[in-house]
Amino acid sequence: MCGILGICGFEDVSHELVSGLVAIQHRGQDSAGVLTYNDGRFHLHKGSGHVSQVFKKFDISKLCGNVGLAHVRYATIGSTEAMDAQPFAVNYPFGIAMVHNGNVINFVRLREVLNNQYHRMIETDNDVELLLYTFATYLQEKNLEQVGVEDLFETVEFVQEHVRGAYSCLTYIKGMGFLAFTDPYGIRPLIMGKRETEKGTQYIFTSETVVFDYLGYEYVRDLEAGEAVFIDSDNQVHSRILKHQKPAFCVFEYIYFAREDSVFKGRLVATERVRMGKALKARVEAAGVKPDIIIDVPNSAYFFASGLAEKMEVPYRRALAKNPFVGRSFITPSDELRKRVVRQKLNPIRDIVNGRKIAVVDDSIVRGTTSRHIVNLLKEYGAREVYFISASPAVKFPCIYGIDMSVKKELIAAGKTPEQVAEKLNCEKVIYQSVEGLRELYKDLPICDACFSGEYPTGITQEILDQIEDEKMKSDRC
Ligand code: SF4
Repeated sequence: MCGILGICGFEDVSHELVSGLVAIQHRGQDSAGVLTYNDGRFHLHKGSGHVSQVFKKFDISKLCGNVGLAHVRYATIGSTEAMDAQPFAVNYPFGIAMVHNGNVINFVRLREVLNNQYHRMIETDNDVELLLYTFATYLQEKNLEQVGVEDLFETVEFVQEHVRGAYSCLTYIKGMGFLAFTDPYGIRPLIMGKRETEKGTQYIFTSETVVFDYLGYEYVRDLEAGEAVFIDSDNQVHSRILKHQKPAFCVFEYIYFAREDSVFKGRLVATERVRMGKALKARVEAAGVKPDIIIDVPNSAYFFASGLAEKMEVPYRRALAKNPFVGRSFITPSDELRKRVVRQKLNPIRDIVNGRKIAVVDDSIVRGTTSRHIVNLLKEYGAREVYFISASPAVKFPCIYGIDMSVKKELIAAGKTPEQVAEKLNCEKVIYQSVEGLRELYKDLPICDACFSGEYPTGITQEILDQIEDEKMKSDRC
């Protein structure tokens, strides 16, 4: 999972790109990068670590230009090293730079085609190379003297036909303009905004609307599944829905990944989480559980827990003190490191926990490492009974679209009943939302729920699942 940002317009964009990346830092902490274009040249700075580390000693004014792309990366596959950091660029045709968020699933086939048929060297494991080279390879076969908007849209359509998986991409093509596009299912978010300046409208595209709040842009719209938007060198906006399938927006954005103050498809993430929390009441009652208090796993579960508490009329308490200076455990490399991070991060508040029956609510239970650790801590601090409640259904299937859940055997719920999971977590009960319950909440918004249901919107074969799992096992995150 990554965060992307691109701005094109009339003012210098470098400082805005770096500040905007800070707003979406939660989407990836492995690397950060910014590329701008000015006077016939790309200017690029990228490296490993948080935005503040990567740009700490760098003179941002070197990244001059009124157009640029920016990226924060969480490496689900490949290395966490600087060479895999985005943006990427090629110098032919024209000079094309690109950032993307998502995961390409037919990467083995694409690498073969690009290597053997087009003699392009693939230098990294980063999917953006596959997208960028596929795009550049098709575009270079056009009459380059006369390339226009139609040619660019045809090129995007070619990419959408040949590159399978989830991707939201931002591209700058030297001398032509700025291009944003999504995969045919619109799995990953991509949102357009604008700001009026004295010289004209400055456009912005990013993964989360919170960037608009930070930088003072106005929301325009979410891109549709399969859509491309092109801003030409005269600042004219062209848009077209190209290869389009039944949309399947990743519901995990609402559940966990996005910031609570972001909005997707007109729905504020915080409000969605309260709604999901309230919907858990029926599940808790059906399980015959009567907690003394409801607590959350900070921070992403607050809205679920408070929604459930309100609906059940059971007191909500914050019972786990969080050290905000320790990173997110879910996006920290390796299981061992994750365990250590959780220990440093959460500490129970003894008087709230002691002697009580506690319903602890989290957004999801993925590997179970954090959940088990929390249960043990609560019991150590005197909890009488612990019920672990997941606002999402059981994660039983790998995510092949760019969230770090691509290895089935790592998923604690895969092939297990809730009772077996409760035993593993050492708690009295595990209660999940059901797949039907989640779908009922999103009956008017087509979502991807493949990690819960096993129904992959793009379709999938066992061969591709195995390839993705193999690639993940070779990556820095295992
Ligand atoms: S499989 Fe799950 S995490 Fe992956 S895109 Fe679909 S809903 Fe999101």
